[in-house]
Amino acid sequence: MSAVVVIGAGVVGACCALALLEDGHRVTMIEPDLPGGPQAASYGNGAWLSTASVVPMSLPGLWKNVPRYLLDPDGPLVIRPWALPRLAPWLLRFVAAGHRIERVEATARALHALLDHAPSHHAALSQAAGVADLVVQAGLTYTYPSRAAFEAEALAWRLRRDQGVRWCELDRDELQAHTPGLSRSYEFGIEVSAGGHCRDPGAYVAALVALAQARGARRVSAKADGLIIESGRLRAIRTTSGEVEAEIAIISAGIDSGVLARAAGSRIPLESERGYHVVLPAPGLSMRTPLMPSDGKMAVTMTRAGLRISGQVELASRSADANWRRADVLLRHAQRMFPGLPVPSSSENTARWLGHRPSTPDGLPVLGPADGCAQVFCAFGHGHVGLASAPASAGLIADLIAGRPSRIDPAPYRAGRFSEGSLPPMRPSN
Ligand SMILES: Cc1cc2nc3c(=O)[nH]c(=O)nc-3n(C[C@H](O)[C@H](O)[C@H](O)COP(=O)(O)OP(=O)(O)OC[C@H]3O[C@@H](n4cnc5c(N)ncnc54)[C@H](O)[C@@H]3O)c2cc1C
Repeated sequence: MSAVVVIGAGVVGACCALALLEDGHRVTMIEPDLPGGPQAASYGNGAWLSTASVVPMSLPGLWKNVPRYLLDPDGPLVIRPWALPRLAPWLLRFVAAGHRIERVEATARALHALLDHAPSHHAALSQAAGVADLVVQAGLTYTYPSRAAFEAEALAWRLRRDQGVRWCELDRDELQAHTPGLSRSYEFGIEVSAGGHCRDPGAYVAALVALAQARGARRVSAKADGLIIESGRLRAIRTTSGEVEAEIAIISAGIDSGVLARAAGSRIPLESERGYHVVLPAPGLSMRTPLMPSDGKMAVTMTRAGLRISGQVELASRSADANWRRADVLLRHAQRMFPGLPVPSSSENTARWLGHRPSTPDGLPVLGPADGCAQVFCAFGHGHVGLASAPASAGLIADLIAGRPSRIDPAPYRAGRFSEGSLPPMRPSN
């Protein structure tokens, strides 16, 4: 068994640490901040554990909408124009990933492999960590103004059906019974009963890290800033608190993973799809399941802290200031969804957050050995589905390290895929 160092303790790093401990490895976790703290995407996400999130963001014809994304400041996807020159290579690959339907179908299959058992995996993990109440397996619901609006998303639902996702339809009265207080302008709904959600993703990740420590993992409070590779073999991780010896390293530092992967020979096009959330502490609502309105494309989830409304995709530089208007867009939409929702008297009554989805242009994470060093494994780039897919990703990483066959085919997630295509290699993005 090996000395494995996991770099980054978000949900992906925490799940990797637990899977590797199970295999008998000696695990060290390097994390400079509080595990599950607001610096991590794992803290503020939509909290969905969705088996239906197999539809990639990039679909055929998407390029036609790019002018709208540049011009509509209130849409669910915006590109800050001055970031465009730097983002262009990533965007080209993003559009190319959705250009052909065969490729989109392959992406949906690869996402399904990671998401299929997500709610039950998280239920088992939360139980082991002593926080079983944080994971709820009650389903997830999509709401539409009309059946026609649902039918306009036929491709997405066909992709889901092909991957075995099952659902039931709800009419307006059933939606009203499902979520009293929902605007009657939603006439049609889809409930996916296999879905689940997490009531406090940050606390959940903290509990997973505590469980890993209780099972023998060591934690180093430092930032990893380099890999020490000698004669092609990993020897140690350089950190802000000195060197940490390592036979194997897992890079799971979310949006900050690119620079470390590059040190191990993998140039991964990783960009932040910035997203926001707003939490209303006392919304006075009772919801059977979280909701996603088709006209807002946001996750509306009851969490321990209140009603969390999260979403928006903002393509801008990682370090650009937060644009809290994006959070206001979420809040306004929630007020349209729930006409009786109390309007906060000031921004003090709402918590707001900006986070960074670590996103590859093809919508799939990078899972597997880095190109230049066989002892360094990539486990990042989970984009929109990292909370849900972390346990399956960690299982695949553990299988690859053990050299045993995996339930999941690793090929779609390999690090080298970005240097194999016909598009020019990426410039470093961070
Ligand atoms: C608005 C929004 C909504 C979302 N909704 C959902 C959803 O409903 N369902 C879902 O499944 N996913 C969702 N996601 C995506 C999901 O949150 C991410 O894919 C996932 O959290 C990524 O986890 P991670 O562990 O890779 O990264 P992170 O959670 O970002 O963790 C990375 C960790 O690495 C640490 N780190 C960084 N650099 C270093 C370094 N050099 N050395 C050591 N440590 C380092 C950081 O401090 C951090 O703790 C959403 C994301 C956003 C932004």
